[in-house]
Amino acid sequence: MDKTYLDKFYKKSPTERKKALVAADVLTADDFLLTHNLHLADELADNMIENYLANYELPLGAALNFLVDDKDYIVPMAIEEPSVIAAASAGAKIIAQASGFKTTISDRIMIGQVALKEVPDLTLAKSNLIQYKQDILKKANEAHPSIVKRGGGATDLFVRIIEADPEAATPVFLMVHLHVSTLEAMGANIINTMMEGITAYLEELTGGTALMSILSNYATECLATAVCQIPVHLLKRPHSNYSGEEVRDRLIEAGQLAYVDPYRAVTHNKGIMNGIDAVVLASGNDWRAISAGAHAYASRSGQYRALSTWKKAENGDLIGQLTLPLPVGSVGGSISIHPAAQFSKRLLGYESAKELEAVIVSVGLAQNFSALKALVTEGIQKGHMGLQARSLAISAGATGTAIEQVAEQLKRAKNMNLATAKELLLNITALNN
Ligand code: NDP
Repeated sequence: MDKTYLDKFYKKSPTERKKALVAADVLTADDFLLTHNLHLADELADNMIENYLANYELPLGAALNFLVDDKDYIVPMAIEEPSVIAAASAGAKIIAQASGFKTTISDRIMIGQVALKEVPDLTLAKSNLIQYKQDILKKANEAHPSIVKRGGGATDLFVRIIEADPEAATPVFLMVHLHVSTLEAMGANIINTMMEGITAYLEELTGGTALMSILSNYATECLATAVCQIPVHLLKRPHSNYSGEEVRDRLIEAGQLAYVDPYRAVTHNKGIMNGIDAVVLASGNDWRAISAGAHAYASRSGQYRALSTWKKAENGDLIGQLTLPLPVGSVGGSISIHPAAQFSKRLLGYESAKELEAVIVSVGLAQNFSALKALVTEGIQKGHMGLQARSLAISAGATGTAIEQVAEQLKRAKNMNLATAKELLLNITALNN
């Protein structure tokens, strides 16, 4: 990748940006042509969901400067919120100067559940399940033989007993968990098929009645971690009153605050998910599944807490770490059929689901770094409002060059809101006529 073509990327027009990506060898000329046709065809969309009417579009942008495990990435992000892509790129730029993100990706094991109730003898049921574990795994794999042929399949079985809760009036549940290697797929359909395939046998072994058989989106066996280490000289901003050491210490305190206060933690994690959801969506993966699992993981201690941690290294550097479940696929779902997801795959240039996980978790950490750095120094609004001003200008009815004119004046206005934007637009239109 020749990065010189990407200089002042944000100042280019969309066409110039795509040409720059071709010149930088990130995209091919064919990919460039493809960008003119990323829309879902009616016929395809009508087969994806029920009662299809029309497509609802989101902007697709590129976050720059990501150096993940010593490889450069341009990251596709589908999002309607201003500032997110700018913040990701700015955070990644500083982190790249500090040797980039290092990631650790666990084995990609998904979990399926069968919930059994009215089990007459829990001890006997549990011992039967353990005794016949190999038969259960065999039946599960017979229910979805193609994933076994590919080298994956059900690998292990665990039993959990959820005690009755008289206060909530819930009965005892015997939960059977199946661990399944779904390889390059997220695996919802694979697992649901397997779980339904073993339900009758589990009822026979336990004497219980199944309530349901389904994948768990709490993918605690499919974790992705990104770490970055930033020297303090990279934290000092040219015109800021804060030294690099002060920025580091305040950022660490911001992380601690989000660890102890759930009200703050939710917003802290929302910032992380700004980046994660946008890449997950652009890649054609199920962002609802990722979000649900991430927020559950943030509550694993019994309290909702920050997903990331920030601390001081022995040499004084700032160390950031983010871990969350990331069961994304590189195949399946809409990944292979949605033209924008296929384009995203080429732009990002990932070879496997693990590599996609590595980039996504790094985007979450970059996003968190940028947000916290702004919050503990100049505040979030300064950077955010630049783009917000453009959105307000457009909402007020500005078009063409008037958008920039209204936005510029809005940034200096006492009240940055729609009413002011409309007033400014009226003045500008009057002056221009
Ligand atoms: P799919 O069923 O669409 O695709 C997975 C299939 O891809 C596999 O069964 C396999 O089929 C094929 N495949 C090709 N190459 C590979 C490979 N290298 N590794 C693994 N599989 C491969 O998707 P998933 O089962 O992943 O399910 C994801 C979809 O399920 C998403 O659209 C999601 O929204 C949806 N969903 C989510 C739920 C949830 O999160 N709770 C619940 C229900 C659905 P073969 O071997 O036969 O070729």
